[in-house]
Amino acid sequence: MQDHRLRHFLTLEDEDALRPLFAEADGVRRRRKGDGVWIRGLLEISNRCARHCAYCGLRADNRRVHRYAMTDADILRSVEEIHRFGHQTVVLQAGEHRHLLRGRIGELIAAIKIRYPSMAVTLSLGEQPEAVLSYWRRMGADRYLLKFETSDAELYGRIHPPKGGGALSRIPMLRTLRALGYEVGSGIMVGIPGQTLDSIARDLELFRSLRLDMVAVGPYIPHGDTPLGVQFREGPTVPHQAPNTPRFALKVIALARIVCPDANIPATSALSAVDTEGYQRALEAGANVIMHNLTPVCFKKNYSVYRAASRKQESHVQWDRIERAVTAAKRVIR
Ligand code: SAH
Repeated sequence: MQDHRLRHFLTLEDEDALRPLFAEADGVRRRRKGDGVWIRGLLEISNRCARHCAYCGLRADNRRVHRYAMTDADILRSVEEIHRFGHQTVVLQAGEHRHLLRGRIGELIAAIKIRYPSMAVTLSLGEQPEAVLSYWRRMGADRYLLKFETSDAELYGRIHPPKGGGALSRIPMLRTLRALGYEVGSGIMVGIPGQTLDSIARDLELFRSLRLDMVAVGPYIPHGDTPLGVQFREGPTVPHQAPNTPRFALKVIALARIVCPDANIPATSALSAVDTEGYQRALEAGANVIMHNLTPVCFKKNYSVYRAASRKQESHVQWDRIERAVTAAKRVIR
């Protein structure tokens, strides 16, 4: 898609005018990816975090969250449930904290691979040194998810205090992951205070140039116990502020499908948290993946990156919603 068309669609609001965009994205998805919807089993293994991301409820100095870390036995029990559901991928996600010991995670990956040799292991464990990523890869990890969140260096610097890596530290890490042989997923939040439509256009161009295997786009959901959530309440501070509405997120999902025709694109949990029809709408606008959260509720309720009713839902309740959305979109679960 040409640059000016992409920017044109980003500014369009009118329902009728957007229909051709969603239809085009849906067509690209059908031709390149088929009608299957791939389900990933998600485990939020710990909410401990040493970072200070301004948008995230798990940030280190949020004292209002009860911290947990699943044990290896907890995790393996949940992986067994994922296997029983028939899902072929487990995603291990967590905050960044020293309990994510290189060795412990490595052994866990190996234990999963020994029990379920055909199961793909995806890690979403934040920013890690190359030596650690390389070790986890050698232990059997297949994929890594790390959203760069925004390609606007100034905005990123404001919402994501560095650990030492400096500005846009996540983008070089995505290249390292690729070089280590991981399949690489990334993405953004849309509607971050200070994020402009132009900057979203540049994010889309970056998706293309990074040749990502997976591209996730979710709306930014303000969290009251974070600095950015407080700032959000004061209203937009830049002209052409990107909205954090479900409709806008859907539009960016559709554009992502068009610029990255072969990528896996999830109907994101964040979208479904703000739009009860979010899964179905995203599946009809280019998405072909859904994450099924199998973290036991006693832990999941505290994994409050943002607040969502689904955090108190048993995994079979979410599964009913997923099945209904896939059927309504006339697609099939893979
Ligand atoms: N620590 C890891 C994984 C945990 S957060 C990491 O940072 O990659 C996983 C994703 O949740 C983040 O990449 C971000 O895109 C999303 N997220 C965090 N806070 C959010 C918010 N307030 N609204 C929407 N998405 C959010």
